[in-house]
Amino acid sequence: MSGGRAPAVGTVIPSDLYGFAERLTEAERAVLTGLREQLQSTVYPLLNDAWDRAELPTELLEAVRGLELMDPPALREAGEPVGDLLTGFRNFELARCDINVGTLYNAQAGLFRTVCTLGGSPEQARDLDARIRTYELTGVFGLTEPDHGSDVAGGLATTATRDAATGEWVINGAKRWIGGATVSDVVATFARDTADGQVKCFLVPRGAEGVSMTIIPHKASLRIMQNAHIEYRDVRVGEDARLQGINSFADVARCLRNMRSDVAWMAVGAQAGAYEAALRYVRGREQFGQPIAGFQLVQEKLAVMLGNLTASLGMVVQLTEQQAAGVFKDENSALAKMYTSLRLRETVALAREVCGGNGITLDTDVARFHADAEAIYSYEGTHEINALIVGRAVTGVGAFV
Ligand code: FAD
Repeated sequence: MSGGRAPAVGTVIPSDLYGFAERLTEAERAVLTGLREQLQSTVYPLLNDAWDRAELPTELLEAVRGLELMDPPALREAGEPVGDLLTGFRNFELARCDINVGTLYNAQAGLFRTVCTLGGSPEQARDLDARIRTYELTGVFGLTEPDHGSDVAGGLATTATRDAATGEWVINGAKRWIGGATVSDVVATFARDTADGQVKCFLVPRGAEGVSMTIIPHKASLRIMQNAHIEYRDVRVGEDARLQGINSFADVARCLRNMRSDVAWMAVGAQAGAYEAALRYVRGREQFGQPIAGFQLVQEKLAVMLGNLTASLGMVVQLTEQQAAGVFKDENSALAKMYTSLRLRETVALAREVCGGNGITLDTDVARFHADAEAIYSYEGTHEINALIVGRAVTGVGAFV
């Protein structure tokens, strides 16, 4: 191997060679590097064992909830708001550590917070957001059903009926795949109002009478993050539990737009995590009397991984800056979620490949990314559904059915 050069690294994130993270302010960069150190010391050591046992240890849950990222003290002290780009890089950094961790954090800070802030009345949004940021109230997002995943927009079958005598809502139905439901206070439950046929959203307490939850067993992806199957039998909640701004599926779609951008950022962070783990491995592993990092075919794979990561990062940075300027388009979020997840799939496969046999053990870290990427690929809209959203936008023809 001809050597002697110091390896190229980004200034804020090692694998960000184009320096996208340099757009962050100094205080924001400090939040990001502080997060990385915290994850490395408190979360990372717990991952492999938890993944192997398919359990979410309380210690890990508390460590993730202890990350003060929705209201970081360093920004408060600097008098800066939490910018959209930092929110994106926060998701990146969490998933760069581990996709389960990113998904767990995002259940509260992304999905649940978004539905409450975009879907609540101004008073509800203000009150709920204050409690969500401090974890005084924890929640998750309950949209998918056992019989309705991709077609949930038109097919959602869970019902909500207003009881004229008490004014309460009576909810019946089932939800599936709801991430983090068994460790959260409430499930933001989407149900169809039997009176007007429109989709509405109710914050249903986990312990409400008539709610039963089971953890979906035997998962081969996202083994730490627990997903629930939930049944609702004549569950009663008051009108105050209804998010007043969600009155049709179009209102749900407004939330999904933001959530897809968050997931795209995670898909990019996971590419960075897998790439960096693979790079570490190939620099240490020797075959034929030299580090395998010095073989041309290995370097080509590293370059493809880095190309995927860099293109994906550029895409989400631009998307976030566009959204920060007030331009929100379903197709732009869908395109980013679709593209970054596709590149993630290729990147984790290459990362696993260059680690050889050790790439299928948890020890090199890439096996976890490889398996967990499959969940990102399917949640928040599958590849096909996001492609169809883009296809409808660019052709003017809906091709879902
Ligand atoms: P299906 O809809 O049954 O799709 C199966 C296949 O058919 C897919 O490849 C799909 O793309 C394809 N397909 C379907 N329709 C078409 C079409 N018209 N044209 C072409 N292809 C089509 N949901 C929540 O509400 N909250 C959560 O917290 C949550 N967390 C999740 C976590 C994980 C790990 C997973 C796996 C899922 C989670 N989901 C959650 C659900 C997720 O959003 C759905 O899995 C997803 O929308 C796909 O639905 P489905 O699994 O029922 O697949």
